[in-house]
Amino acid sequence: MDYVSIKRISEHYATRYVDLDTIEKAIKSINKGKAEDVFGISIENVLYAGQQFKLFLHKLINRMFQDRVLPDIIKTGLLSPVFKNKGDKNDAKYYRGITVLPILLKIIEFILRIDLRSGSLKLQSILQKGFTANTSPLNAAIILEEVTFENTTSGCEIGETLINAVACADDVAIVSENPHELQYLVNIAAQYSEDHHYLLQPQKSVVIQVQPSNRKKSEDPVRIYINNNAMPISDKSPHLGILRSTTSQKTQDATVEQNITKSRRAAYSLMSAGMHGENGLDPSTAIQLFKTFVQPILTYGLEVILPTSKNLLKLETFQKKILKQILSVPISAPDPSVYIMSGILPIEAQIDQKSLNLFNNICNQNENHLEKKIARRQLIAKNQESNSWFIAIKRVLFKYDLQSPIVLLNDPPTKYSWKKSVRLAIDHYWKNALIQKSCTYKSLKYLGTSNISPGKCHTLLSIGNTSDPTREAVRISVKLKVITDTYILQSHRSRYNLNETPTCKLCDTDIEDRSHFLLTCKILQCIRERYLNQIDEIISDFLNFRMRDIPTDDQLQIILDCTVLLSRYTNDNTVLQRIEDLSRQLIYALHVARYRTLDIKKR
Ligand SMILES: [Zn+2]
Repeated sequence: MDYVSIKRISEHYATRYVDLDTIEKAIKSINKGKAEDVFGISIENVLYAGQQFKLFLHKLINRMFQDRVLPDIIKTGLLSPVFKNKGDKNDAKYYRGITVLPILLKIIEFILRIDLRSGSLKLQSILQKGFTANTSPLNAAIILEEVTFENTTSGCEIGETLINAVACADDVAIVSENPHELQYLVNIAAQYSEDHHYLLQPQKSVVIQVQPSNRKKSEDPVRIYINNNAMPISDKSPHLGILRSTTSQKTQDATVEQNITKSRRAAYSLMSAGMHGENGLDPSTAIQLFKTFVQPILTYGLEVILPTSKNLLKLETFQKKILKQILSVPISAPDPSVYIMSGILPIEAQIDQKSLNLFNNICNQNENHLEKKIARRQLIAKNQESNSWFIAIKRVLFKYDLQSPIVLLNDPPTKYSWKKSVRLAIDHYWKNALIQKSCTYKSLKYLGTSNISPGKCHTLLSIGNTSDPTREAVRISVKLKVITDTYILQSHRSRYNLNETPTCKLCDTDIEDRSHFLLTCKILQCIRERYLNQIDEIISDFLNFRMRDIPTDDQLQIILDCTVLLSRYTNDNTVLQRIEDLSRQLIYALHVARYRTLDIKKR
């Protein structure tokens, strides 16, 4: 917004009188627990200063409003440089300045905001996004995405809408098909920055020559000047966190690559806090950390560029690797098992969910909003083969059996109800897909899938109310290997190495597979007995059979995932958790005994 408009708004809309109630509301609205301002005052000082002080503040603020003067002393701030976590630590370029404003100014800001917002929205350009209620910064990215695909000869237009500059806060993308027109637009921007006394970052102002997909030959490089300096021609530059490049394929590749690099950095910084499977945090806590700190970075902006299968695979490979590490199962563990156990959905599902929510945001806009106009136009004008984002959304809606995009545009559901129906549809779709896929793996036979729900960890990861989560985490890690059949026994060894026999090295009689290790190997019998008796005691309370009377397969099922058989007989989760705890202890004890005995035998 320019200086003239700001002045006009402040003349027309700013209040001259504030009541005590508004001041109290303003004080309560400010976040607590923040740094002190330049005068050493924090919001807590004001909050607990008492009635007398509030009356004084009331008087003071009203005096300022009546005279329309803000004293210079409250326009100062405390500036601290914050490292951007990339680049050279000794270079000032890689620091961002964060200013702590005086508390008094924050209170005044809150009061003014109420009035100014109503005035400013009318004057704001429809291409300006960010800091605006009901639009996400990514809305600006959508517009740019559509422009790139448009390839018209009549300048950057979608239908009858002319798009020449897409802005989000201070991030501006100027688009034009004609170099002269582009130079003209850049001149306006440069002139404007001069008039308003700010500097356009020379390193960040670059030209990207987008190659139209319908023309094979690349064009001659254009020269655009900013303040008499030639602007550098770059093959990629970030706009709203998305790395824009010369073709949409390159943009997609670069952004996916960037997201993975950033996520890897985030994930490894959490490893030191214990997010690394074995000997660390318990898996359900580690998965929560992953969801909070890694997942948002990994999928950032992808709802706009909608990656193709090649890039989806890259993202998926990264996610799977981290999840397997957290669950401490080897990379060879069957893929569906990690999703079933962690409750995390494949990347494709996450992106679908985000893009459908973004579409709902556009549907809920007023008819005169640019994105909504574009949405209407593209959905009517484009055919199924189009690269338009809106046509892609149409396909996603169809995939999950949701309403058609036109219906949603005309009668948009509220954000809350839409989010809920999208989540339900996506959960349903992927739950079925995962269950079907896991059935094709013989090794996942014992992994219970009936009561899984996306977003929640499998009961196998639940640590219950143990007093020692670290020890429980170690037990869980052994058990997860056994249930995914990635715990290496002689039967596995012999499959990959001809020199190995499948015969158990403890008892030298039978083939060592899961059932031999867990139920029959006689060397481990004394350890097994103790735990199985305890499990038997619990079961006999509500079932009329003993463990040893049921088929081997069912015995294995109870030890590996008791919910599959027993949830038919009881809904009491504490009982199931107790059996789960005991079976974990059993498997861990067998694991320790097996290794100890093998060690002794070797010597
Ligand atoms: Zn044996």
